[in-house]
Amino acid sequence: MDGKKLEYKGENALRELERLTMNAREVQEMILKEILTRNGATEYLSKYMEGSTDVAEYKCRVPVITYDEIQPYIQRIANGEDSSIISGYPITEMLTSSGTSGGEPRLMPSIAEDIDRRTYLYNLIMPIMNQYIPGLDKGKAMYLLFVKAETPTACGMPARPVLTSYYKGQHFRHRPRDPFNDYTSPDAAILCPGSHQSMYCQLLAGLIHRHHVLRLGAVFASAFLRSISFLECNWIDLANDIRSGRLNSTITDEECRSAMSALLASPNPMLADEIESICSNGSWKGIICKLWPKAKYIEAVLTGSMAQYIPMLEYYSDAKIPLVCVMYASSECYFGVNLRPLCDPMEVSYTLLPNMGYFEFIPLEDGLGLGLGLDQVKEVENDKVVGLVDVKIGCYYELVVTTFAGLYRYRIGDVLQVSGFHNNAPQFRFICRRNVVLSVDLDKTNEEDLHKSITTSKKLLEANNLILVEYTSHTDTSTIPGHYVLFWEIKCTSDDTSQIIPLDDHLLQDCCIAIEESLDYIYRRCRSNDKSVGPLEIRLVEAGTFEALMDIFISQGSSINQYKTPRCIESSVALKFLNSKVRSCFFSPRDPTWNP
Ligand code: AMP
Repeated sequence: MDGKKLEYKGENALRELERLTMNAREVQEMILKEILTRNGATEYLSKYMEGSTDVAEYKCRVPVITYDEIQPYIQRIANGEDSSIISGYPITEMLTSSGTSGGEPRLMPSIAEDIDRRTYLYNLIMPIMNQYIPGLDKGKAMYLLFVKAETPTACGMPARPVLTSYYKGQHFRHRPRDPFNDYTSPDAAILCPGSHQSMYCQLLAGLIHRHHVLRLGAVFASAFLRSISFLECNWIDLANDIRSGRLNSTITDEECRSAMSALLASPNPMLADEIESICSNGSWKGIICKLWPKAKYIEAVLTGSMAQYIPMLEYYSDAKIPLVCVMYASSECYFGVNLRPLCDPMEVSYTLLPNMGYFEFIPLEDGLGLGLGLDQVKEVENDKVVGLVDVKIGCYYELVVTTFAGLYRYRIGDVLQVSGFHNNAPQFRFICRRNVVLSVDLDKTNEEDLHKSITTSKKLLEANNLILVEYTSHTDTSTIPGHYVLFWEIKCTSDDTSQIIPLDDHLLQDCCIAIEESLDYIYRRCRSNDKSVGPLEIRLVEAGTFEALMDIFISQGSSINQYKTPRCIESSVALKFLNSKVRSCFFSPRDPTWNP
C-alpha cells in the first residue's frame, strides 16, 4: 500500500476516489496480492496456501469463515503469542467489536497502519460534504464523541473499541487544526473515560459555541439522541455554569476541568438566558434548530437498525435540516462512504472503497430472508463467492473481508443490497445484520423483518400523537405455545395534551395485529394454521427504561459510541430489568390472515 496515497485530502481526495472506483477491479487484485505477499508465511495462511501467493489459489483454497474459526488464533495472540500466527506485521491492539461470541465481545486484530486507512476514509467526508453544502469551514462542528475505558488482553495488549482507539491515536489528537476540523468539544472532554462527565462537558461546549455550530451529530443516531435526552435533564445546570462562568462541581476529571475552564473564562448571563428561555419553553420539538440556529445538518449512522431513530431526530429538529449518514465501517475494516449525503436517510447507499481491504460477497438468493433465515447460509462453497466488481444490481449479499491485519475471507455478518455503481465500484444499501432475532417454531424473523413490521404499526401510534422511542423483543417460550414479546417505550409528541387520545387497549391491540399482519408467510401460518405460535404481545415500559437498559449494557462493557439497543434480548438480567418496568401488556386480539 502506498502510504502517501492514504493521506490525500480535499480535491485530491476526490480525484483519488475517482481513480480508485474507476480501477476497482485492479485495485482489489493489487490489495489481495499485497496481503498475500505480506502475510503468506503466517501460520494461518500457510496452512492453506503452502507458500503460494497466487490470488486464484487463495480463492479456491482458503475457506470462508466466521469468528468461531479464527477466534483460537486471535486468542493465542491476545495471550501473548507472536502476531505471525495470522499477520506479517505486528498486531498492535485488539479491537473489541459490538458483535459478540459466546456472550463475549469479539476481538479483531489491528496493525499500526490500519489507522492510516481509517484516517483516509475520514478525510474523504468533508470534501464530499463540501460539494453539497459549501461554507462548512466557516464555523464549528458539534460532534459528540466518546471513548471507553480499556481492558488489556492477558498479555497486556490494548483491547478497546475501534473509535476509542482512533480518538486516542495520534491522527485524531494531532489532526491539522484546519477549519474543517474545528470541533466544539475539547479533546479532553472526548477522551474523558466517565461518560456522564464527557457528555456534560461536550454539551456545555456545544452550548457555549451555539451560534457558531454549522453541523452536529454523533457516530450512531442512538448516541446523539441519548445526548439530547441528557440535555433535557441537565440544561439547568449547564445554563448555570455558563451564567456563573464556573464548571459544575460534579465534573471531577482534571483534564476536563482545565479544558472547560478555558471555555468558561468569564460569566455569560446573556447566553445563559437565551438557553434557559429556549429550553424552558414547553415542547422540545425542534429544539436542535433552536439551540443551534446555524446548524445545516445532523450527522449520524441512520441506516440498519438505526433507521428507527429517524422520527425522533425529525421531531427534535422539526425536520428542518437534513439527516446525513456518511460512512459505513466496522472494527474489522472500514468499508465505504455515502457519495450522496443529502439523500433521504432511507435511500442511503455506501460506495465500498476498493483500497480498504479485499471484499467478497456471498450471494443470498433469498434476499430479504422470507422464510429462509439469512442465518441458514452456514457452509459457504468457495466458488459461490463473488468479487467486488462482480456483484449484480438489486441482488443481496453477505459481506466477506480479507484484511491486512489477519482476517481471511471473514464473514462480517452484514447483509447488503447492490443499489448501483459509482464508476466501477458497487454501491450498497445496508439491509441488516445477518441474524434471526425471533423464532418460536418454523418461523424465523430477522431484524429487518421485525423492524419493517414495527414501522407499519408505528403509523397507528403517530396518528395518535405518539412516537415509539425505542423497542426490543424477546421470544417468550414460558407460555405454550411460545410467542413474540415486544417491549415498547412510547412518548407523546403533542404540545396540546387535550388532543391526546388516552392510550387505550384497542390502539395497542391494533398495533399487535398490524405487526403480525406484516410478518412473513411462515410466521402467519404458524400463528393461524399450525397454532404453533401464540398471539404477539406488546409490553409497554416506563419512560427512560431503554436509557437505563443502555446503562446496564455499558456497565457490562459495551461502548457508549458503538452501543446499539439489542433488537432481541437474551440476557436474563436485561430481561428481568425490562419486565420490572412494564406498565401494561397488550395481546393480539385475533389470528393474522394467512392464505394457503
Ligand atoms: P462494530 O464492529 O462494533 O464497530 O460494529 C460494526 C457493525 O455496525 C457493522 O458490521 C454494521 O453491522 C454496523 N454498522 C456500521 N456502520 C453502519 C452503517 N453506516 N449503517 C448500518 N450499520 C452500520
